[in-house]
Amino acid sequence: MPRRCSNCHRETPPTQLRSCPHCRKEFTTSLRASPSTIPFAKHDRSPRISLGHIRPRASSSAAAHRITPRENDTPVSCQYKKVCAEYLSSLRWDKSFFDRQHNRCYCENCYSSSREDTTVQGGSKYVLPRGWCRFGLHVDQVRADIDRIWSKWIVTYHGTRPMAAQSIIQHRQFLLPGDTCIDGTKVAILPDHIPGKNHIYTSPTIAYSSYEAYCPPQRFHSQQTGKTYDARLVLQCRQQPGSYKVQGETINAGSKRLCPFIPNDQIEIFTEVRAAVVPYGVLIHLTEV
Ligand SMILES: [Zn+2]
Ligand SMILES: [Zn+2]
Repeated sequence: MPRRCSNCHRETPPTQLRSCPHCRKEFTTSLRASPSTIPFAKHDRSPRISLGHIRPRASSSAAAHRITPRENDTPVSCQYKKVCAEYLSSLRWDKSFFDRQHNRCYCENCYSSSREDTTVQGGSKYVLPRGWCRFGLHVDQVRADIDRIWSKWIVTYHGTRPMAAQSIIQHRQFLLPGDTCIDGTKVAILPDHIPGKNHIYTSPTIAYSSYEAYCPPQRFHSQQTGKTYDARLVLQCRQQPGSYKVQGETINAGSKRLCPFIPNDQIEIFTEVRAAVVPYGVLIHLTEV
């Protein structure tokens, strides 16, 4: 019976392989025999209980990048996540943007203070987004396979206004200042910009990306709780090592340390390579006012 890769679904030779010859996914368990009568699922779907939108789904490709929780890591009912979801739906973004596979809440109840603050992803420090709730975005499977973004690329953050984030997701890529959008408008070149220096800016820490200058809070009134919040939004991305440059903070922080894990002089990343930054989650943070 033909064997197939759980990631790209192509047939693999009937020999003991450590990784898929097509997409190079590393096999941790033996491949399943794939009956040809069953259509291929987009992701490796194991039977699961439907618990609404609040439970992240385990899958083989998510397990490969090791940021999906074990089954019971996220409480079935996280009130914070529900209010974050309410804020996100108030933005009226297209539902097709989202992929629950990458959902994960890092609030104090879902991600306890005893757990790690950082891990290593793509050979660099990944500062976990404590206090934020992630809503997963669809990622192009071809990009994920060819570039092996879940195992080889680093995690970065991009704080911006909701409208700009929506535009990035809709265009399926970051745009550079001066680029023309699909509606014919141009991405603004800021007045203080240096000619020829159009870049996409990200950071290895959300402490920097969520700074008000990048990600101004929006007032949001929740119907669920009857309370008012300052809501902030940051895109979580995978970014290709070697495609960017690192520099210090540019918000005049002076001697104030912005993140306990990333020094101020390495806190900003910039690139001209649009295709080397792939957003995979929208992170929401709410502060009651
Ligand atoms: Zn494969
Ligand atoms: Zn939570």
